[in-house]
Amino acid sequence: MARLLSDAVALTERQQLVRSNIREICADFDREYWRRRADEGAYPKEFVDALADHGWMGILLPAEYGGAGMGTRETVVMMEEIAANGGGFSAAQAVHGGVYNSVPIVEYASEEIKDDLLPDVAAGETSIQAFGLTEPNAGSDSTAIETRAQKEGDEYVINGQKIWTSRVDVSDYIVLVARTTPRADVDKRTRGISMFLVDLADAHEQGALEMEPIPKSASDFVHSFELWFDDLRVPESNLIGVEGDGFYQVLDGLNEERLVIAAECIGLGRLALERAVEYATDREVFDRPIGTNQAIQHPLAEAYARLQAAKQLTYNAADRAASDEDVDLGAYANAAKFLAADAAYEAADAAVQTHGGFGIATEYDVERYFREARLTRLVPITQQLALNYIGENVLGLSRSY
Ligand SMILES: Cc1cc2nc3c(=O)[nH]c(=O)nc-3n(C[C@H](O)[C@H](O)[C@H](O)COP(=O)(O)OP(=O)(O)OC[C@H]3O[C@@H](n4cnc5c(N)ncnc54)[C@H](O)[C@@H]3O)c2cc1C
Repeated sequence: MARLLSDAVALTERQQLVRSNIREICADFDREYWRRRADEGAYPKEFVDALADHGWMGILLPAEYGGAGMGTRETVVMMEEIAANGGGFSAAQAVHGGVYNSVPIVEYASEEIKDDLLPDVAAGETSIQAFGLTEPNAGSDSTAIETRAQKEGDEYVINGQKIWTSRVDVSDYIVLVARTTPRADVDKRTRGISMFLVDLADAHEQGALEMEPIPKSASDFVHSFELWFDDLRVPESNLIGVEGDGFYQVLDGLNEERLVIAAECIGLGRLALERAVEYATDREVFDRPIGTNQAIQHPLAEAYARLQAAKQLTYNAADRAASDEDVDLGAYANAAKFLAADAAYEAADAAVQTHGGFGIATEYDVERYFREARLTRLVPITQQLALNYIGENVLGLSRSY
């Protein structure tokens, strides 16, 4: 079977190059590899190392730091292929932080930090896989964060709690978002928030960081943690950007990142659909392949149509992000993420149904895809919050929060 949705959009030469190289790397990691990682809950280090060896962890880093100097148009291809070639959404998530958390560093960190850190990140020798924003009382409403960073001499002292922080166990640094001014003391709730680069080995050495993994039912080999910071001392030179402007720095680039997450959902949907078509062709019941039945065929055809629509919107928006056009990228990015997550969910659900009882057997993998597809409707923002953006900013309806 030709790879599904390969011709859904016309690719540039550079995009084709990314696609063929990522497919080549993925070919060394078969279904058995991913199934074992999921069973053992073990981070796919060999896979991430292989990507790093080929320079892909630095896809977004400028060439002057040893990166590939590419942008969103190429990153959507990379991440869709990683998900589609057997690893699913979790494989993309295992890589995602390492690619994206250096973006604010490039944009806002001091020249010293950039020169020190980024060449090693591009070479895959140092990782900034973790990003800590969400707290027990601040998820969708991220300006409600309470973790405090207080200036003392030439240091910041950080106290507070984070939740759902992913990949802290496989990261050298975390990009941490904390309040330098309490919410009650700022005129706008988006102000008074700052971004810090925290060396995790140093935090452990200080005895200022405790972490507990969160037991969960999706994304088996990417772990998320609850973190407690107790008088963590961070040099003031590790402030990223301007004190108090951290929330705006988080927002910058968020839409392009959201398009890449949409592409990861599309990759997962493709994977689920390909497995379902394979099974529908091979499995015979009542002396004929089950794929002959329209009750099996139509949900798969519908999933294909939905994935194709989501892919066209995502890639079109990635093209527009790369152009000089003045477009509301938020409208595209939120619509793309919403449609892609739903399309992945429909595809994975149809794949489970197509497999009958084997739909829940780990041996066939589709149960893992289904759990991951459910997760895509929750992260990094929920479907409702994506719709809130469209309702308020595109349709001009009143704000619900
Ligand atoms: C596996 C996983 C990995 C994660 N990794 C990270 C990470 O690395 N770093 C990090 O900082 N965070 C991470 N997160 C956190 C994630 O970004 C949040 O879970 C997400 O933003 C939703 O926040 P919440 O869970 O607090 O839900 P809540 O904000 O409590 O929302 C609960 C429900 O209410 C709905 N809701 C709330 N307000 C409105 C409204 N105004 N209109 C309509 N509906 C509304 C929401 O859509 C949702 O359905 C991760 C989460 C998961 C599950």
